[in-house]
Amino acid sequence: MKAVTLAAVDEVAVRDVPEPRIDQPTDAVIRLRAGAICGSDLHVYHGQMGAMEKDYPIGHEYVGVVEEVGPLVRGFRPGMRVGGSFFSACGECDACRRRQFTQCQEIQLFGFGARFGGLAGSQAERVRIPHADHTLIALPDEISDEQGLFLGDALTTAYFGVRRADIEPGMTVAVVGCGPVGQLAVECAQVFGAARVIALDLVPQRLAQAEEIGAMPVLADGDAAKRVRALTGGRGADAVVEAVGSEATLNLSLRLAAGFATVSAIGVFPQPSVPILIGRAFDRDLTVRAGMANIQAEAAATRELVRAGRLHPERLVTHRMPLEDAPQAYALFARREAGKVILNV
Ligand code: NAD
Ligand code: ZN
Repeated sequence: MKAVTLAAVDEVAVRDVPEPRIDQPTDAVIRLRAGAICGSDLHVYHGQMGAMEKDYPIGHEYVGVVEEVGPLVRGFRPGMRVGGSFFSACGECDACRRRQFTQCQEIQLFGFGARFGGLAGSQAERVRIPHADHTLIALPDEISDEQGLFLGDALTTAYFGVRRADIEPGMTVAVVGCGPVGQLAVECAQVFGAARVIALDLVPQRLAQAEEIGAMPVLADGDAAKRVRALTGGRGADAVVEAVGSEATLNLSLRLAAGFATVSAIGVFPQPSVPILIGRAFDRDLTVRAGMANIQAEAAATRELVRAGRLHPERLVTHRMPLEDAPQAYALFARREAGKVILNV
């Protein structure tokens, strides 16, 4: 089958790789209908996750049809249309029973290489899904493939970050980073009752996109904190969602925050340690949270919000390309010349 693999730093290739098979009785194999490229894939693309094995498929945003299930899979059968989480969790260990799926002892991420469990990625014609009952998300007819693609990562990650930002109705919320995840965080903050959402980025086109969905755009340059204070009567933002994953944006988030605000970081920090303005956090009594999105616990909510027409993730799709064009698709997305890029299989 064909799959997207990392050929070199900043270069992907579409290669013929071995077909996945059912390996455990709780596995499923799905045939892809489409995949998408995520900002997290860019960390792989830029070589920040290390070298990938030869012929190792990357990618983790997918929608497809169940082709085969192992004998212990209960909730899914061949022919069902599904999306799924970007990681698999066993569903049975202590952490999973507490619904802390990101803390599963057997967690494996799709498409991030050996460091994260070595599970083959989903930018491919087929993918093996471990613990299918916990990993897959059934798609009702009212949810399109393009909407379904967002449930297993980008949208649910944004929702997770926003839910943990302690937003109360009427608050002013800042979202730092207007990539697809940040844009979706703008929408989610509105659903959580934000009176105003201030969106920050360095790329004018991305700011314009955020403005289209109702955010107040602010250029994230050296004067950003000053501008946010000017927009909020000197207070700063009542809650901040960080959706980039860098020292600069994390500390900008702290500088934007009003006293007693929560800064909820969902950006992935490729390096394990960055300096943080702890004095600022102390003076302003800030709460800072960071975390990988607990998709398995949150996706029921985002699926219902999409089904009900309250969230419109599909609006972010700017490019639809065949899987074979993955090299051009990655290059476009990496240059921030595209919103969400879909790879049709
Ligand atoms: P993206 O790369 O498309 O978006 C990042 C945005 O940040 C871009 O618009 C970029 O212009 C902006 N940016 C970069 N530096 C900036 C700065 N100094 N100030 C302001 N803006 C800046 O990626 P995405 O798909 O939107 O994902 C965003 C982040 O979320 C990535 O780090 C991704 O890895 C992460 N993510 C985390 C989880 C999770 O489980 N926590 C899941 C999915 C994605
Ligand atoms: Zn578990």
